[in-house]
Amino acid sequence: MGVLINGKELAKKLRLNLKEKIEEEGLKPKLAVILLGNDEASKLYVKIKSKACNEVGVEFEEFNLSEDATENELLELIEKLNNDKSINGILVQYPFPKQIRLRKVAEQIAPEKDVDGFNPYNVGKLISGYDTFIPCTPYGIMKMFEEYKIDVEGKKAVIIGRSNIVGKPMASCLLNANATVTICHSKTKNIKDELLQADIIIAACGKKHFVKSDMVKEGAVIIDVGTNVDENGKVCGDVDFENVKDKASFITPSPGGVGPMTVAMLINNVVKACEEQANKAI
Ligand code: NAP
Repeated sequence: MGVLINGKELAKKLRLNLKEKIEEEGLKPKLAVILLGNDEASKLYVKIKSKACNEVGVEFEEFNLSEDATENELLELIEKLNNDKSINGILVQYPFPKQIRLRKVAEQIAPEKDVDGFNPYNVGKLISGYDTFIPCTPYGIMKMFEEYKIDVEGKKAVIIGRSNIVGKPMASCLLNANATVTICHSKTKNIKDELLQADIIIAACGKKHFVKSDMVKEGAVIIDVGTNVDENGKVCGDVDFENVKDKASFITPSPGGVGPMTVAMLINNVVKACEEQANKAI
């Protein structure tokens, strides 16, 4: 079996580093999270983020809106938080009820408080290779590459999925790091042929065990973003881990891989926002 990338342990180390930084520099970072409705998975994700923030010394405030809150109500709340100097970062927990447009929410969050990196201004900066808030999941994956000394330069990376949250920013990150990038999606023909050429596979299609052993080149790096719930209620990834692991040079489990890194990078972005806002105020 290839090297198992332990996202849980790595995230713990990063959280500890951030805690030390916050204490040493006397920072007072604060994150505001807006939760719409009663979706159980969303509530769980908010709880995980709240726990991680508390552990590290990031103040966390939760705002709850009902399932049928109007888009205007949400946009007004975001505007209030944009103007609140005690808040450094704003996150609206995804997915949203039907009446709320992701585009409107992303545009409303002030770019300097956009710790998810979804505001089009920050998206443009990422594509242009400028310093910005990198969306937490791709950022966590790039951090894994760095920590495990996986050099992506000149490598062929194939991403399955083109969402604004994972696939597209992942492609920008890899391109900025000099990889050659292919993005596959539901209309891509012959995905298997694409994957068989990949030195690095990022699976983010939300389909249980989509990546099978016969789709993977010997020695490939396999990153599994997928978090699917199987018929027994167990969380599983987009990669058929048991059958792929022996072919991979590095592989992440799911759960226990990308998920904890996503949370750690969120905290990283809140601390970055706090520092940048403090510097601007001087
Ligand atoms: P999403 O918005 O639903 O996007 C899924 C992408 O996969 C789309 O681009 C879709 O193509 C593509 N796709 C779906 N079926 C496919 C198929 N059969 N062949 C090829 N491509 C296919 O999902 P997301 O938000 O990016 O999330 C993806 C997965 O990652 C989900 O399981 C989600 O729960 C998980 N996730 C995990 C974390 C974490 O921290 N661990 C964070 C975010 C997301 P089209 O564009 O053509 O429809």
